[in-house]
Amino acid sequence: MANSDQSLTPALKTSPKFIFFTDFDGTITQQDSNDFLIEKFGTGPERRKEMFNDVLYGRRTFRDAFKEMLDGVSLPLDKCIEALLKNITLDEGFKEFYTWARENNVPVVVLSGGMQPIIRALLAHLIGEDEVKTLPILSNDVAPRLGKTLKDEGGWEIAYRDDSSFGHDKALEIRPYANLPDDKRPILFYAGDGVSDLSAAKETDLLFAKAGRDLVTYCRNEKVPFKTFDDFSEILGIVKGIVAGKVSVKGVAARA
Ligand SMILES: [Mg+2]
Repeated sequence: MANSDQSLTPALKTSPKFIFFTDFDGTITQQDSNDFLIEKFGTGPERRKEMFNDVLYGRRTFRDAFKEMLDGVSLPLDKCIEALLKNITLDEGFKEFYTWARENNVPVVVLSGGMQPIIRALLAHLIGEDEVKTLPILSNDVAPRLGKTLKDEGGWEIAYRDDSSFGHDKALEIRPYANLPDDKRPILFYAGDGVSDLSAAKETDLLFAKAGRDLVTYCRNEKVPFKTFDDFSEILGIVKGIVAGKVSVKGVAARA
């Protein structure tokens, strides 16, 4: 029992007092890498918007719509990554934040509906190949299509992480930490920008929501406390203050 519990909470290995969960697309990156691929090499912006609305109004699941949108991208995976490296900009402040977090035993866990090799390639570009190897990224993946390799035209498809209608339910990853008894439970932070972050963020103690993005609206509507941020240097300042005991989590959320 103890073993299976630990396997659900790998970020506790160094007995941290704080854990920082973060979304990837739109949170660490300035643009959404999946939207970029779909709009540029797949079904295009109009069809993407139509399908996104279908999901928003409950006509179909995110899981189905996202798969169909990505199925429209036949560009080989390495070419997709090449295009993304040229076109997607990352939050420069994340590098300093991540370095500080490592030095101060605040594990960072990336939770994403995007695809593992793409996220790793983009992050390696920002924080370095070696650093990215030890960074836990819990996300969807890619798989070769039958009889093809990832390098072939039309050779890859998304491989979902779980059986949920989202393809990857971020709240499920956080819950084992959130449900720990008080004396074992670290303070949990979350940074995000979109609707898929809301249920996950509800499990944590302090939510950073990217200024001007959908998550801010959802949080206001659902009365979930949050602190807006523009970039990770701002998050770093606040997290440093909390870790040093200068400000409390409740104090930050109350002033938001
Ligand atoms: Mg996002």
